[in-house]
Amino acid sequence: MCALLVGLPDVNVIGVGDWPRWLRVVVETPTGRPDCSCGGVVHRHGIREVEFVDLPVFGRSTRLVWRKQRWRCTTCGRCWCDDNAEIATTRCALTTRAARWSTLHVGRNGRAVSDVARELGCGWHTVMDAVVAIGEQLIDHPDRIGDVNALGLDETLFARLGRFRTQSWSTQIVDVRRGQLLDVVPGRTAVEPCRWLAARPQAWRDRIEWATLDLSNSYRSVFDTMLPLAVQVADPFHVHRLAGTALDECRRRVQNETMGHRGRKDDPLDRIRRRLSIAAERLTGDQHDRLIGLLRAGDPRQEVWFAWNAKEVVRQTYAHTDPDLADEWVAEIVRDFADESMPIEVRRLGRTIAKWASQITAWHRSHVSNGPTEAVNNLAKRIKRVAFGLVNFRHHRVRCLLYAGKPDWTLLPTIQP
Ligand SMILES: [Zn+2]
Repeated sequence: MCALLVGLPDVNVIGVGDWPRWLRVVVETPTGRPDCSCGGVVHRHGIREVEFVDLPVFGRSTRLVWRKQRWRCTTCGRCWCDDNAEIATTRCALTTRAARWSTLHVGRNGRAVSDVARELGCGWHTVMDAVVAIGEQLIDHPDRIGDVNALGLDETLFARLGRFRTQSWSTQIVDVRRGQLLDVVPGRTAVEPCRWLAARPQAWRDRIEWATLDLSNSYRSVFDTMLPLAVQVADPFHVHRLAGTALDECRRRVQNETMGHRGRKDDPLDRIRRRLSIAAERLTGDQHDRLIGLLRAGDPRQEVWFAWNAKEVVRQTYAHTDPDLADEWVAEIVRDFADESMPIEVRRLGRTIAKWASQITAWHRSHVSNGPTEAVNNLAKRIKRVAFGLVNFRHHRVRCLLYAGKPDWTLLPTIQP
């Protein structure tokens, strides 16, 4: 009955002790006399007791004490112990099943390591070491990364380190079609993503047709150098945001020039600051009239009015379904925004759009966005929140990939720490 409850293969339960902090289950593995490789005579050579952290039993923390038989060869003098990696390995302080269980909870369920450690009644590092040992085998499994048709890059802040809280960034490489995190590399420059792509086989890189990015120059250079055949697609959200920022900057400048101070709650431009960011078609007739009225009151040179229209025109780019029409539309935007009569923010927006024109209209042909990348980013941020911030990049990588990298969890019962 006892052996059944302990549930390990090929063990005899010798005893169970009730200790104040945990239950202590003592087991041994009955094996016949082994042979030595030299063919000599083998004798029993004492017992070695090794204690492992095991899964909780009936709500109590448990330690598994394994009384290992030591053997000694009288001919060559070699000594060794019974070993069974399915029970535990000496390199891991957790039993094999506890290590797998911890990986499942920390990795797939996104639990805090301290939380799991408390449940097992052991230290934080004991659990984290086991998660890294098993997790890296899962995430580095060659079958995890399949063929990729559309690749996305995005940055995340993963830690603030040192005395001056220097920001440490990491770049996430995402399969945009499947929403799978492929890998996490340190930094947000072009170097590490290039190195990662260079490590893939050429045939794998050639299969990538689309590359999505968030209007950042370093990721653009990654794609230019490593994936010259892939069509780059600028993410619509970031284009919208660019137009919104231009409008916001223009409003703040005009506010300052006309009133001589920052926006106060009775200033006309401050009263419409939220309404300016709403899409024009979602404004009711009443709201639209008030917007026009307040713009007339607070915007004598009509600069905010131009910036607002510029934002709407940029938004309408994505209303077109015909790619050729979108090409023309963007070309017209670039021409119109360069006009001398436009406020400086709109002219700057026009220059940025000109620089990214082919990437912006590529969206109309591919309809891939960086949305899945941002979704994966959100999962990574959840891991960071749960951990109250991560400092070690290796731990950050393992935990993000276990959570968002879609490893094959059915392999878990076959993996040993
Ligand atoms: Zn021997």
